[in-house]
Amino acid sequence: MGQINFSNVTAAAQVLQGVAIRTPVLTSRQADEVSGARLHFKCENFQRAGAFKFRGAYNTLSRFSAEQKRHGAVAFSSGNHAQAVALAARLLGMSAVIVMPRDSAPAKLAATREYGAEIVFYDRYTEDRSELARRLVSERGATLVPPFDHPDVIAGQGTVAMELFEETGALDYLFVCVGGGGLLAGCAIAAENLSPDCKVIGVEPEAGNDAQQSLRSGAIVRIAVPQTIADGAQTAAVGELTFPVMQRLVSDIVTVSDEQLRAQMRFFAERMKIVVEPTGCLAAAAVMNRVVDVRGLRVGVVVSGGNVDVTRLGG
Ligand SMILES: *Cc1c(COP(=O)(O)O)cnc(C)c1O
Repeated sequence: MGQINFSNVTAAAQVLQGVAIRTPVLTSRQADEVSGARLHFKCENFQRAGAFKFRGAYNTLSRFSAEQKRHGAVAFSSGNHAQAVALAARLLGMSAVIVMPRDSAPAKLAATREYGAEIVFYDRYTEDRSELARRLVSERGATLVPPFDHPDVIAGQGTVAMELFEETGALDYLFVCVGGGGLLAGCAIAAENLSPDCKVIGVEPEAGNDAQQSLRSGAIVRIAVPQTIADGAQTAAVGELTFPVMQRLVSDIVTVSDEQLRAQMRFFAERMKIVVEPTGCLAAAAVMNRVVDVRGLRVGVVVSGGNVDVTRLGG
């Protein structure tokens, strides 16, 4: 553990070379008109397993010792982290156990199973999942892979911004969504090294602005699990490792409403012909609603994932 620096990000890029998809950077004249800026969308909705989480998961698992590889990985997640760990484990020939709530969406259970992971259920109202995960770790000797607060996870997520800057050159602003802050911390480290004058802005759902409160107060603020359609950002607190990186390298954290996220999903589908999940819309919604004044500037926008339950898209 300890300090994460840019050399960890470049090392992760080497590990991911030829395994993760180098996702496209899209532009849109209409998005530029609405925002008043020149926008570059880094589209991780096209990443393997549908979100950037594959980068951190694969980087972490590939650095397991031979002993760790033999006993496999454990993750607890009902979302994109579960599928990312399951796929990374399969590609690396290890076993994975994913601890999921019994009432998870059937599509998510099916996807996790398809990647060959074993699913262990828990009741999210009566059981403590971290206790369950700890038991799995001690009984099976498997290694727990946290969704954001791990140096190899953060370094893997940083390759998103690294690839973006390689393509665009220096930018004035970079907008990144925040849950636990793994993606934001990794991207901020890449920005510091590849575009030192770029201001990095985190974007959270209005209903759960714990990262904003934390950054502004100078200490990690913990909140009740927020009610928002941005399910990838329903975290109660940022990480012990991600927060100091955010304090050092992130200029500000701003928020957007669920209504703005819905409008952004529609914009992506109708105008740019891409499917983006609500959490993946956070950064774009901040820019398109001019939450920060970026008129006339060159702006990077991370689109973090595209795993939407299409039966819910109609509304
Ligand atoms: C996990 C996730 C996030 C939040 O990432 P953190 O590293 O926890 O901040 C954002 N968007 C999507 C699509 C995710 O899956």
